[in-house]
Amino acid sequence: MSFADLGLNDAILRAVREQGYDTPTPIQQQAIPAVLRGGDLLAGAQTGTGKTAGFTLPLLQRLTDTPPRKRGRIRALVLAPTRELAAQVEESVRSYSTHLPLTSMVMFGGVGMQPQVNRLRKPLDILVACPGRLLDHAQQGNLDLSGIEILVLDEADRMLDMGFIHDIRKVLALLPKERQNLLFSATFSDDIKALAERLLNRPAIIEV
Ligand code: AMP
Repeated sequence: MSFADLGLNDAILRAVREQGYDTPTPIQQQAIPAVLRGGDLLAGAQTGTGKTAGFTLPLLQRLTDTPPRKRGRIRALVLAPTRELAAQVEESVRSYSTHLPLTSMVMFGGVGMQPQVNRLRKPLDILVACPGRLLDHAQQGNLDLSGIEILVLDEADRMLDMGFIHDIRKVLALLPKERQNLLFSATFSDDIKALAERLLNRPAIIEV
């Protein structure tokens, strides 16, 4: 199976080629068509499996194929537990969207708010964020999440382990009800199952 067989568009295929990828990994083979169909997804995948491209590539294609639900608003939100992961994910988003007219930003705590506020004033399609700093901005009125069409929780088990469940709930309350939800987790504790139950609507389920 090739990336082209998965139904990705030429701009994305070109970026994938430029990354030097030949063959989609097992999680990509399953996640990409599932996300392109537009439904929710529950995916069990460890780091190193290619999960980031597994959700990013079809996310980019969905954003490209459909007009924004609300003009000028952030369209996709990826929540990640740590700065390192958030930065890494946003770097991937950036490299896979090289040939697309989509912009992205990474947001985490421990650095100044103002540069992030300045960035938020410019057009932004995809926000990759740690929950705490995201809420800081939301509470200060710097952030409008009413246009979110796709939500990704990456390494959801680690987010729960780090005590982010309350923050995640608060973020969910800021999002429009109708959206596509993707939940990635390496493990499936009862807490993750409960979160999945709350968050996901008849999800496709994949495990690698
Ligand atoms: P991840 O599990 O998303 O953290 O990805 C792990 C590593 O695999 C990253 O360095 C990716 O650049 C790389 N990678 C992702 N997909 C592929 C692929 N289809 N072929 C080769 N390498 C890949």
